Amino acid sequence: MLVSKVREALICLKAGRVTLGYPFAPNDPKPGFRGKVTVDPDLCFGCGGCANVCEAGVIVVSDREQHYRLLEFFWGRCTYCARCEEVCPEGAIRLSGQFETATDDARDLCMRLEVFMGPCQRCGRCFPPPTPLDKMMTTGFRHGLEGGRA
Ligand code: SF4
Ligand code: SF4
Repeated sequence: MLVSKVREALICLKAGRVTLGYPFAPNDPKPGFRGKVTVDPDLCFGCGGCANVCEAGVIVVSDREQHYRLLEFFWGRCTYCARCEEVCPEGAIRLSGQFETATDDARDLCMRLEVFMGPCQRCGRCFPPPTPLDKMMTTGFRHGLEGGRA
């Protein structure tokens, strides 16, 4: 019994330190670590692809006005799956190496991003009309047909 314990102690001493020094020493995550999600507002063009694939419902997209799209992020729901990063065509949304996300202010877990959307030069709208009825009421889609409908 004693011999086996001594042997165990020797093995442990030989192995040296096997735990991280964090939080007493900095901890740099390895490449590929999936930490806090960051969004670059200069790269995002509001396509909504990230919101489409986010199963956790972190990203909510709404069109409040004709010329801007609102993206709301509720980070408290994030599961760090990285699907948003995979689909973003601009590399605007990324998972960083930041893992210290605890906060005592719930506002830190929400983010709003207003993205300017250029309207169509012909019809003045940003996106296809949501319903066939709206589509019928929209004029100016066809060339050479004044007041024509789409
Ligand atoms: S972050 Fe990327 S995927 Fe999401 S809306 Fe912006 S451009 Fe599209
Ligand atoms: S990492 Fe996953 S859960 Fe978090 S915002 Fe991106 S898609 Fe949603």
